[in-house]
Amino acid sequence: MVHTGRCHCKSVRWKVAAPSSVVVWDCNCSNCYMRANAHFIVPADKFELLGDSAEFITTYTYGSHTAKHTFCKICGITSFYYPRSNPDGVAVSFRCVDSGTLRHVEIKHFDGKNWERSYNETNISSCSKEK
Ligand SMILES: [Zn+2]
Repeated sequence: MVHTGRCHCKSVRWKVAAPSSVVVWDCNCSNCYMRANAHFIVPADKFELLGDSAEFITTYTYGSHTAKHTFCKICGITSFYYPRSNPDGVAVSFRCVDSGTLRHVEIKHFDGKNWERSYNETNISSCSKEK
């Protein structure tokens, strides 16, 4: 099914094809922990920005600079980003999905403080592969 979502000020809007029941990753790495990031991951081609959203997005990187922490220039909300674990995918902040279409969220913990180990143990990289 298709979910729509947005940042707080609605400058960044998107749609994403995903099931109504998703697995959400609650990560404790230095960045995710600070902003209570919790996201589900989809293959990149399942995600599409709407309208002129790209004009309102800016990007922060750190460390390996693999993850692209995108956020809205106006309101500062990260409604989605490109995660280090899935460079071929998009991580969607489940709390930014418009209400009504996500029926069930299963929270799983990703131990971002021990990133390599958690990456191997969770098989998170499979989340951005076509099923
Ligand atoms: Zn915004």
